[in-house]
Amino acid sequence: MVSRVLLVGPPGSGKGTQARKLAERRNLTHIASGELLRASVAEGSETGLAAKSYMDAGDYVPDDLMISFILDALGSQEYFVLDGFPRTAVQAEALDVALDQTGRALDIVVQLQVTDSEVITRLTGRRTCPVCHRAYHMSNNPPASDEVCDDDGTGLVRRTDDSPETVQHRLDVYRQAVDPLLLHYKRAGVLFVVAGQGDPDSVAQRIDEAVLGGS
Ligand code: AMP
Repeated sequence: MVSRVLLVGPPGSGKGTQARKLAERRNLTHIASGELLRASVAEGSETGLAAKSYMDAGDYVPDDLMISFILDALGSQEYFVLDGFPRTAVQAEALDVALDQTGRALDIVVQLQVTDSEVITRLTGRRTCPVCHRAYHMSNNPPASDEVCDDDGTGLVRRTDDSPETVQHRLDVYRQAVDPLLLHYKRAGVLFVVAGQGDPDSVAQRIDEAVLGGS
């Protein structure tokens, strides 16, 4: 049974959407590092304060901070989908050690492949309702009336790190760090590559094929 999954991919590859769907389908806990960090920033916690400037600039939060933060959130969960952590080989090694200490290991790592131009289109058009968190895309899934939530009429917001300049920087940061991370999981024999383009349901089906193949 595949019960410990990691999704890797550039920002905007659909990791969050796919991790949420996979967690629902297979009854796994969804652990999204970016979402947890944004919640910490909103709370004004010590971690949030330390992470905010890196996040706003589109840079990675330092490994030591990320590792203690996410390992804490992960705790002794048996069944989970990790989304956005690990992002570096150092984080991957720390995760391996922590899982190993409790007799756990990742069953499968799914790499979502999406081109840079697709990422830029997806992220710069992304908007969310700050009240109900409904997600929109200004060209693919726009609200009925300009930049206002269909459900509650609240003005939609764009993540500060989804501006065109910061998106390009986040992509560069991803490309710089990802090869050693992928190599780490390739060596462990758990890496599967899935095409991330197309509608979310087709991508989910491809992931299911990889996950079921690995169970
Ligand atoms: P995300 O929502 O996954 O795009 O993450 C938003 C931001 O949180 C990233 O651009 C980083 O600044 C930070 N972040 C999330 N996960 C990690 C991680 N594993 N390592 C370093 N920084 C992270």
